[in-house]
Amino acid sequence: MSVSDLDRLKSDIDELVPDLVATRRDLHEHPELAFEEVRTSGIVAQRLRSLGLEVQTGVAKTGVVGLLHGSAGDASAKTLAIRADIDALPIHELNELDYRSQVDGKMHACGHDGHTSIALAVADILSKRRDELKGTVKFIFQPAEENVGGAQPMVEQGVMQGVDGVIGLHLFSSMPLGYVGVRSGTVFASADKFTLHVKGKGGHAAMPHGAVDPVVIGAYITTTLQTLISRETSPFSPAVITFGTINAGTAFNIIPEVAVMQGTMRAFTPEHRAYLLRRIEEVAKGVATAMGGDCEIEQHGGCPPCINDPAMAELVKRAATSAVGEQHVLTGEEVMTTGSDDMACFLQAAPGCYFIVGAQNEGKGAYYPHHHPRFNIDEDSLPIAVEVLSRATLDFLG
Ligand SMILES: [Zn+2]
Ligand SMILES: [Zn+2]
Repeated sequence: MSVSDLDRLKSDIDELVPDLVATRRDLHEHPELAFEEVRTSGIVAQRLRSLGLEVQTGVAKTGVVGLLHGSAGDASAKTLAIRADIDALPIHELNELDYRSQVDGKMHACGHDGHTSIALAVADILSKRRDELKGTVKFIFQPAEENVGGAQPMVEQGVMQGVDGVIGLHLFSSMPLGYVGVRSGTVFASADKFTLHVKGKGGHAAMPHGAVDPVVIGAYITTTLQTLISRETSPFSPAVITFGTINAGTAFNIIPEVAVMQGTMRAFTPEHRAYLLRRIEEVAKGVATAMGGDCEIEQHGGCPPCINDPAMAELVKRAATSAVGEQHVLTGEEVMTTGSDDMACFLQAAPGCYFIVGAQNEGKGAYYPHHHPRFNIDEDSLPIAVEVLSRATLDFLG
């Protein structure tokens, strides 16, 4: 693109800002939880149709796919997918805003309202530039990113067939406004949830020798599993094991039969993830049997790590550099998180890049962590994200 083309893109985006903000606020006022995003996907489908896109609804229940066919023509035409997640969280919003959530107990506390409005604005911008696109842009509006996982069913329904590259972003309330974070390799960790059923033998608390205490066994399992990180994991490989719940017993003077523990494990490579999942099971069972009890482990199916392709990360980095300047493009550790995102499923299906866009601004009260009842974003991050996605797409299909 020439310099004047670049300026024209910026001014096109500037013109869209009032609509971009209004769309985000409307979605914010009407949050919908996983696989219940009926109103949201209705708005998305209607907007995409009005822009002349080919629209498919009801993909993985409440997902929407929009196809924008470029008219620049090329025998080697490629398809680039742009993914946005659309769901909200079961959190009661504590912000006092004109556009605060109108639904008690539900809130867009992760910024997916922003992601949805950003992708719609990109569709708007690019629909007016079909003649510059040699190929197809596939907009994927994914339900149920939080907890349940809407990405995998979309992939299973074939949305990634024929896709040559995939990009997406997460707004970040911990990164200052004006910065974009992009790097190749793993950026979001895998996430696995597991439940341990530690079995002992109940009895009188005063006569432990006649019982097998699952509370003591559970305590040993909790601390021993930490050695999988401190003794079996390279200090250069990030990984986490955390137990969030331990439940056992009914009274102070009874040794219970069972202790139930729920935990999560995060890792940065598929190999390390598989290794730790296997070792958690071996060690938990080994500790329990050594102490005269037993342990059964339930693994609940998890999310793989988000691994960016080097060439796709480079594509996004070029776009980000044009949008915010090289000194505002971060490529270090600050771009990595031990949080997870099922964007990973799309990244497994095609080379891609998941990047982050700074949305933090203390002056506007936008600094609370994601999933906090006072979470918010600086909306000035929205046009930045639109610009990066638009430029990356025009570069990929140009
Ligand atoms: Zn979230
Ligand atoms: Zn999120």
